[in-house]
Amino acid sequence: MYNAIICRYHEIAIKGNNRSMFETRLVENMYYLLRRLHDIRIARVRGRIWIERKDKNSFTDDQLAIIREELPRAFGLESFSPVIMCERSLAALKTAVNNSCRPYFAAAFTKQPAVSFRIRAKRSDKKFEPDSKGIEIELAAEIARIYDPDSLEVDLENAAITVWCEVRSEFAFVYYEVIRGPGGLPVGSNSPVLALLSGGIDSPVACYQIMKRGCRCDFLTFHSYPYTPQATVDKVRRIAHHLNRFQCPARLFICNLAPLQKLIRDKCNPRFRTILYRRMMFRIAAALAAKHRRAALLTGEAVGQVASQTIANMATIGAAADLLVLRPLVGNDKNETIRAAQRIGTLELSNEPVPDSCTVFAPSNPATAVFPSKIIAEEAKIPEYPDLLQEIIAAIETLTP
Ligand code: ATP
Ligand code: MG
Repeated sequence: MYNAIICRYHEIAIKGNNRSMFETRLVENMYYLLRRLHDIRIARVRGRIWIERKDKNSFTDDQLAIIREELPRAFGLESFSPVIMCERSLAALKTAVNNSCRPYFAAAFTKQPAVSFRIRAKRSDKKFEPDSKGIEIELAAEIARIYDPDSLEVDLENAAITVWCEVRSEFAFVYYEVIRGPGGLPVGSNSPVLALLSGGIDSPVACYQIMKRGCRCDFLTFHSYPYTPQATVDKVRRIAHHLNRFQCPARLFICNLAPLQKLIRDKCNPRFRTILYRRMMFRIAAALAAKHRRAALLTGEAVGQVASQTIANMATIGAAADLLVLRPLVGNDKNETIRAAQRIGTLELSNEPVPDSCTVFAPSNPATAVFPSKIIAEEAKIPEYPDLLQEIIAAIETLTP
């Protein structure tokens, strides 16, 4: 019965001259997310986006299921509603309500004997007769003709069912649901970034957050084969695959850090190992970002979470990369991040127990405040590291997860 989807956006709507670029990007992303539907048209009409079938027929149940599954991943969308679009007449609106209300009322009657409902009508065409109040009265009467009035109750505040109706200058429509979108800005409306993606809980959430601000993420993961198993990379690959459902598939770069870790293990103070690893990770990431023209790195760091994330250590690690580092979770409580991971579907993947590259040869008492002068002295003990870095960078593998 639904022959169109109305999509609303919020943050894009307050953009000035650039608004059209954001809207175009959102429409492109929606075509991509809905690519399993071959016969649709997505159009911008005065501050809204409309999806219709090219043949103007109703969507099938399978098509609606795809739309319900995919559109909550379209960053930039505030909400969307499947609608029954009809011509602008009271008779057509009544027919639309008559043809569409039954499943909603039937579902509500299974829960309570009397169902509360309300009609919310809006006219953007003020010449249309009757006015909004009049439309509401007429459509309420239509529903009272279908069901026993004793089993109905009009409730303007907390109705179990709201029948929304809108009359525009070209057409009218009726709908029952407002499904939330993810909000934010369309992926691709800002510069792409290179995300340091581990198998942990945090970095996938950080990726999601920054995609939501319009940045496409390529992913870089470090492993320490043979000190970490193949399962370490496989796990990250699954996480990257999942994250790619929110954007046009991006690449996963895979880097083996083990040769450098062995060098650090053999020559440097064990208490500084993690920080030394992390500085090497940042150097590799910065080189890769430069090669692929990515303007920023992204991590899942949060202040105070582990020894390497004290302010002092974050500063010392960050100093190794001459590039903007985005840390969207910096002020998050761990539980907030866990809830977010659950919401976006990465928690289950992250919870799989697999060793991480950072923990290879990791000391039991890592230093919590290492200042740059100290770490530079440690790095002076491994003068061969720049050459080794080049070898490691040259051996990075690329795949589309
Ligand atoms: P996460 O849950 O993201 O692993 P964490 O709390 O375990 O975070 P760390 O392991 O110290 O914290 O890592 C901090 C950040 O450094 C991660 O969020 C990620 O961005 C990056 N990072 C850590 N390990 C790796 C890795 N093996 N490959 C790529 N990036 C990594
Ligand atoms: Mg980690």
